[in-house]
Amino acid sequence: MVTWLKKKQKQNQTMKFQLNKKEECLTILMEECGEVIQEASKIMRFGNDASKLTKELGDLQYMINLTANHLGIDSVSIGVHANEKREKLKKYSNLIDK
Ligand SMILES: [Mg+2]
Repeated sequence: MVTWLKKKQKQNQTMKFQLNKKEECLTILMEECGEVIQEASKIMRFGNDASKLTKELGDLQYMINLTANHLGIDSVSIGVHANEKREKLKKYSNLIDK
């Protein structure tokens, strides 16, 4: 096999073990987002109860907080955006009482 390809493959094999804390945090955050999507889908498709979704929402909530800490995002800024989302939902959905 071509030497540069062998080097690249070896580099790729070792990279997964060399994630820094920020990268690891973002990766797990993405995984938890996927798990929430999966459980929401199962409720829609099969009428599952919310117990597994509850667990995954807890996992995601923790990862959101941890990611904010690792990336230096302050909780006040997140709160501002959450309030903006609430206002959008008031306007464009029936989820929030007006
Ligand atoms: Mg999970």
